[in-house]
Amino acid sequence: MEKAIHYIIEFLIGAPEYANMIGYTGDRSLWSKYKVVIVPSDFFNEGVFGTSNSMPKLPLQEINGIPILFGEPVIAKQNDIVIVKADIIASSFFLLTRYEETINKKRDIHGRFIGKDSLPYRAGFIDRCVVDEYGELLRSCLNLTGVEVKNLDHKFSCVMTHDADKIEQYQNLRGFVGGIVHNHFKDAFVSLFGGIEKDLLYTFPWMKSIENEVPNLLSKVFIRVPNTTSIYDKPYYSLSSNGIKRLFELYPNYGLHISYEAGLNPELIAGEKQKLELAGACKITQCRNHYLTSREPEDMMALVDCGITDDYTMGYADVAGFRLGTCKPVKWINPRTCFLTTLSLHSLVVMDCTLDRSEYMNFNYDDAYQYCLKLINTVRRHNGEWVGLWHNSSVSVLSGGYQRELFKNIIQSLA
Ligand SMILES: [Zn+2]
Repeated sequence: MEKAIHYIIEFLIGAPEYANMIGYTGDRSLWSKYKVVIVPSDFFNEGVFGTSNSMPKLPLQEINGIPILFGEPVIAKQNDIVIVKADIIASSFFLLTRYEETINKKRDIHGRFIGKDSLPYRAGFIDRCVVDEYGELLRSCLNLTGVEVKNLDHKFSCVMTHDADKIEQYQNLRGFVGGIVHNHFKDAFVSLFGGIEKDLLYTFPWMKSIENEVPNLLSKVFIRVPNTTSIYDKPYYSLSSNGIKRLFELYPNYGLHISYEAGLNPELIAGEKQKLELAGACKITQCRNHYLTSREPEDMMALVDCGITDDYTMGYADVAGFRLGTCKPVKWINPRTCFLTTLSLHSLVVMDCTLDRSEYMNFNYDDAYQYCLKLINTVRRHNGEWVGLWHNSSVSVLSGGYQRELFKNIIQSLA
């Protein structure tokens, strides 16, 4: 618990050398040891923590325009010490660990927590990095005591990711016949006999060529391992197929796309990781769940146990924004045990289908583009990491939607 609290203070302040100047205690006899003291609310108390009594009450109070989940919106100076009664430690813990999902057990048909049920959405700040705003507030409190907090080394970065769900359309007889039936005879013919790179669904080389135009953009692909029993894991592809071999070359920084079935049964993740490692002769340390079905917060432990160091699942399928309240990679803390782990969570800020599906945000092109720009600017302002997810299928000319155009324009705006 103490380690987790110390980590959150370090995370907020952004530089470890200032962490010892900040105390988190209600014991007044200890306050003189610190320059800034954050007074704990009852969130972590026995009988409150882990129960429905720990849930914040809406509407939330605000301090300097920032919503606080716990404590009082008061900052006072007392004998050169700044006393912060807004419990930004418990508030950060709540957001960074998905604590809410351990209390509210409602899930969608895929077992996922629903973004529109989340506190950040209901309280109207899903598009803000509230935890990073707490960090700014804490730095300004240190400034009040005369400590000059030096500029942080964080720099804006962007990561474009792709989940390889269905990689090809016409590479087998069934797809070819389907193409003929749908009057795509020429495309089907060219693709069947021209190889994977001519397949209209295999848009990875096209995406990569656009991504290469932005020097600071990192791009990666998450690859699935075949042969589970869930229908949601179809279609299967062979890890030794030409399409996958080419993906290994195009995106050497690839990770595991954890199957739907392993989302249900996290003990299967280690085996999937091993198979992908064998196929690509490369150690796998990154992942994202298919359908974003990282169901229960404590399921992350399976990732830690099998040597995954970076997870990119943490976005909501139904609403784009900041599921963890931050745009900076953050170490996962188990919200039940408060155990601090080595796993880094990367907030998935926006997924293509979240924007255009009628059951999700149902945006037209202009609204989708404007919303994406807003999220990009928010991440820029906090010098954080913007992570997007566009599928090879959504940018295919076969999809018929606006994602191909949007993808190009988003990449440009990241430059
Ligand atoms: Zn997927």
